[in-house]
Amino acid sequence: MSIENPLTKISVVIPVFNEEASLPELIRRTELACAQTEKDYEILLVDDGSNDSSAEQLMLAARAPGSHIIAMLLNRNYGQHSAIMAGFSRVSGDLIITLDADLQNPPEEIPRLVAKAEEGFDVVGTVRQNRQDSLFRKTASRMINRLIQHTTGKVMGDYGCMLRAYRRNIVEAMLRCQERSTFIPILANTFARNAIEIPVHHAEREFGDSKYSFMRLINLMYDLVTCLTTTPLRLLSVIGSIVALSGFLLSLLLIILRLALGPQWAADGVFMLFAVLFTFIGAQFIGMGLLGEYIGRIYNDVRARPRYFIHSIITNDKPASSERDN
Ligand code: UDP
Ligand code: MG
Repeated sequence: MSIENPLTKISVVIPVFNEEASLPELIRRTELACAQTEKDYEILLVDDGSNDSSAEQLMLAARAPGSHIIAMLLNRNYGQHSAIMAGFSRVSGDLIITLDADLQNPPEEIPRLVAKAEEGFDVVGTVRQNRQDSLFRKTASRMINRLIQHTTGKVMGDYGCMLRAYRRNIVEAMLRCQERSTFIPILANTFARNAIEIPVHHAEREFGDSKYSFMRLINLMYDLVTCLTTTPLRLLSVIGSIVALSGFLLSLLLIILRLALGPQWAADGVFMLFAVLFTFIGAQFIGMGLLGEYIGRIYNDVRARPRYFIHSIITNDKPASSERDN
């Protein structure tokens, strides 16, 4: 028996940043795909501070009679993941699907995601088949994926693909995380009970350019690592210990060589100086690592992620108070 409730309504959340060229087709194809699922649906388009006509187009689409579209306009550009979070805060469906506005992930895959979620999965991810991105982007993705798998322990092949479905309880858990920089697919996986991935088609970007410059990609990478783990801080201590220990061993070796082979091995104390220097540098790193440990703890407390998230509580119908009365 699946512990998940049946799905009645689907919410699609799409972040939009200067995508005026692809919007008409996006809306048309997404509506068509949602209608195919034969469930109630809403399409929430979040305008992330675009400076082209995207916002006007969204408002027009939302005002059309009988429209399933909700337009949410942010006052400036906050980035893709913040825009999606903003959308999450207003969804009313039981299953929330995220999608890019650039039509690289075909909306036609939505019914398949819904079908998978109905089998009882609370997160449905996707793996891009024949990915249409540059070699640099693909290699960066592959490295990041490996890191994430290592730290979250969940095996997922493709974290970069935003065509994903989340059950409502997962979205609510994500909304309760207070941190400012989030990476949604990873956050979702930390709360997922059973996640699955399905292969989807990936198309080339037809309209406009990627909204991620090299610098923004680097920023995203930092967000991603720091949202995952505070291990880099701990690494400082580890590196420090290794350096200090090697410095100490080097000085021992030098002393032994000096005693066994005579003063010409001491080279006027230059090598010894290095050995002492290494030991001190190592000690400094250990100190920094210790500071880092505290900062890591402060960071964890400040972002105040829920420590657990209750899926449901099942009791029989007898009111709890009656037991106490007896
Ligand atoms: N996007 C956004 N805010 C931003 C950058 C991007 O809402 O600051 C949206 C963009 O409109 C698109 C999605 O995020 O719907 C993915 O962006 P893009 O396709 O440029 O990224 P890529 O496919 O190159 O990773
Ligand atoms: Mg794209």
